[in-house]
Amino acid sequence: MGGMVYADHAATTPMRPEALEAMEPFLAEEHGNPSGVHAVSRRAKNALEEARERVAAVLGCRPLEVVFTGGGTEADNLALKGAALARGKRGGVVTVATEHEAVLESAGFLERIGCPVTIVAVDSYGRVDPDAVAAAIDADTAVVSVMWANNETGVLQPVQQLADLVAETGAAFHSDAVQAVASEPVRFAGLDLLSVSAHKFGGPKGVGALVVREGVPLEPVVHGGGQELGRRSGTHNVAGAVGLAVALEVAAADRKRFRRDVGEARRRFEEILLDKIPEARVNAPTDGRLVQHSHVRIPGIRNETVLIRLDMGSVAASAGSACQSGASSPSHVLTAMGFSPEASRECLRFSFGWTTRPADGEELASALLTAI
Ligand code: PLP
Repeated sequence: MGGMVYADHAATTPMRPEALEAMEPFLAEEHGNPSGVHAVSRRAKNALEEARERVAAVLGCRPLEVVFTGGGTEADNLALKGAALARGKRGGVVTVATEHEAVLESAGFLERIGCPVTIVAVDSYGRVDPDAVAAAIDADTAVVSVMWANNETGVLQPVQQLADLVAETGAAFHSDAVQAVASEPVRFAGLDLLSVSAHKFGGPKGVGALVVREGVPLEPVVHGGGQELGRRSGTHNVAGAVGLAVALEVAAADRKRFRRDVGEARRRFEEILLDKIPEARVNAPTDGRLVQHSHVRIPGIRNETVLIRLDMGSVAASAGSACQSGASSPSHVLTAMGFSPEASRECLRFSFGWTTRPADGEELASALLTAI
């Protein structure tokens, strides 16, 4: 990345070289379709099943519980629609105002076809109150979906506490852990459904997984040849699954160093920023946010202008989530946290990742101050 500071790892992070290397044979000579019967197919099938086992070992689930998908968005769609539709017409959804669009738009679709949907509010840091979630669950609720960590601010939700309380109801508990996997020890224990996406932790884009606890009823969303035990049809992305599995292992093995280096970069960045601009604010609690996120509000700035100037200075950052890039309407996450449209436009998201060096924090802070 010579000379540039990449501070948009939450949008996507560079591939781990180990993942790329492991994928290469399956993009070249090992071209088999794992659903076939001959030796070429069997080699692809073996690679796919080995990838599934490796994913299961890192996430703490059974291999058969891993359903490979075409990314995090598809995993979220399958979790919500799959669990709600498996209940018949009245499968209800309880979710939170700050969820990713993949969850909120799936809930919106289900509501349009007659499923009861409740959206629970958050506090000014974007945290949901478990009691409010509990109060929203009723006999119709098929699935409760609360993300592990928010993609814009990095705030962590009380996932274990929520899992415990949902377990006492008839509903399934889903968590979108797409942003958390790079730095948090995400484990499946206690959950019913869990979404991950390879390109957020050093794997390729366009592949993800939904972990589905054995026995949780799930209606498929993509129909066809019945791959993934009927839960997700379509010829497997063998190279993608291999890349996802290797990236997940590498991320887990590198977690301690990641947290140290990224933590140091962020600490310096925020220290310098708040020292030079005391009225700036970090939009997340000091404890209880992802180590790689720094979502800040700088009164008086316009985020679009600062981002353009940062870009000219070889700094890549973002105003919020990349998935809504181009949209100039204020982020639904910040709106739910009580930010006015004007305040939202004073916010910037800097997100770090495995290629971040501790010194990047200082470099980023000085580039930001220059841009401002
Ligand atoms: N969920 C969260 C929290 C995300 O941050 C993203 C990616 O931006 C997604 C889901 C969607 O994942 P994908 O890009 O793999 O479709």
